[in-house]
Amino acid sequence: MNRSIGKYRYAGRKKFSADKFDPADKGGFQGREEAVLEFVDNLKKINRLQQKLYAERKEGLVFVFQAMDAAGKDGVIRTVFNTLSPHGVKEYCFKVPSSEEMSHDYLWRFWSALPPRGSISIFNRSYYEDVLVGRVKELYKNQTWPDRLKGTDVIGQRYHQIREYEKYLYETGTRVVKIFLNVSKDEQARRFVSRIDVPKKNWKLSLNDIKEREYWDAYMEAFEAMVNRTSTKESPWYVVPADHKWYARLIVSRIVLQTLKEMNPDYPVNNGEEFEQAMQYRQALIDSITDGKLPDSLPEADALPIEVSIDEEDVRLFSEPDAIAAEMLMGEEFQKISEKGRSLKKKGLSAVSRLAKSGYKVKYTDEIIKAVVDSDKKKG
Ligand code: AMP
Ligand code: MG
Repeated sequence: MNRSIGKYRYAGRKKFSADKFDPADKGGFQGREEAVLEFVDNLKKINRLQQKLYAERKEGLVFVFQAMDAAGKDGVIRTVFNTLSPHGVKEYCFKVPSSEEMSHDYLWRFWSALPPRGSISIFNRSYYEDVLVGRVKELYKNQTWPDRLKGTDVIGQRYHQIREYEKYLYETGTRVVKIFLNVSKDEQARRFVSRIDVPKKNWKLSLNDIKEREYWDAYMEAFEAMVNRTSTKESPWYVVPADHKWYARLIVSRIVLQTLKEMNPDYPVNNGEEFEQAMQYRQALIDSITDGKLPDSLPEADALPIEVSIDEEDVRLFSEPDAIAAEMLMGEEFQKISEKGRSLKKKGLSAVSRLAKSGYKVKYTDEIIKAVVDSDKKKG
C-alpha cells in the first residue's frame, strides 16, 4: 500500500482543481478493515512524537481544518487527536464572529489561540472562513471601512495577508499546516438526510447548512482559490478526500504523523549543573524509601489490554488508539450494516478477532462470548 500523502499535498507549485479531485478516493483500499492497523499504528507514533514535542518546547504547531458542512471535521479531530496528551493540545472552534471580533481586523481573534512552544492548536475553522463564507457572501461589505480603503479588493488582499501571516509565524517558531476535508455534494446530502432520520444525530441539524448548498459552486471556487493562493512550502494545504470517513481519518493521521516527523522533536538532554547536583541526591533518595524498592518500569501504552464489546453503544476499551480503531470499525457504518439486516455480530466478531490476531489482548465480554456461541450454533 502506498502510504505517501504527496498526492494530497499542495505546497505552492501544484494547482488544486476541484473538478479533477475525487472526494470518494479510497487510495486503493477495499474498506476500513484494511486501514485500521495502519491507523492505530500512526496514532501510537503520533502520541510518542507529541510527548517529545511537548518535552522539547521548541516549536508550536497549528492544524487548521476547513471543510463544507458535514464533511467530518469534528469526527476527524476527535479520532485523530484523541490519544494526545491534553496538556499539549487545545482545540479552538471559530464561529460567526461576535460584534467585538467584528470591530477588529479579521486576524485579531486568532492571536490568543496560537500555541505556545511545544503545543498543538487545532483550529476547527479559522481565518480561512474570511475567504470562504466571507468571499461567497461578501461579508466584508457589512463592515465599516475607512474612506481611504473604499473600493479595495478585500478578498484578493486577504490571500496575500494570510500567506504573510503564516510566513511570519513560521519564521517566529510556529508551523501552520492546513487540511481541507473535501466532501462531495452528494455525500453531503446523504449526511444531511441522516441528520434528519437518525434521532441521535438530530442535534447536528442546521437549516442554514442545508440552504447553503445553493451556493455550492461558489464555495468550490472559493476553496480552489484558497488552496491555490495560500499554499506554501512552509505552510502547505492538504486536500483530503472525505466521502469515506475512515479514509479521511487515515489520511489525516498520516499528515499529522508526517508533520511531526519533519519537526523531529526529541527529549531534551538534561546534563547541566542541575542534573549533576541531582545525582548527588540520588543515593540519599533511595536510602529514604522505606522498603528500598525502585519503581518497576511501566508498560508501554500499546501493551495495555483492551476490552471490546460488540454492542455499538458500548465499545469499552482501554488504550485509546485501540478505542479509535474499534470506533472506525464499529461506528456508524457498523450500525448501518445492522439496519440493512446483515450480520452485525459477524462484522463485530471479525473486528475483534482482527485486533486479537494483531497482538492485542482482547478481553471477551459476555456479549462477545454469546455472539461467538450463536454464530457457532448457526454454522452447526
Ligand atoms: P459550526 O462550525 O458548524 O458550528 O458553524 C460555525 C459557523 O460559523 C459556520 O457556518 C461558519 O461559516 C461560520 N463562521 C466561522 N468563521 C466565520 C467568519 N469569519 N465569518 C463568517 N462566518 C464564520
Ligand atoms: Mg455548521
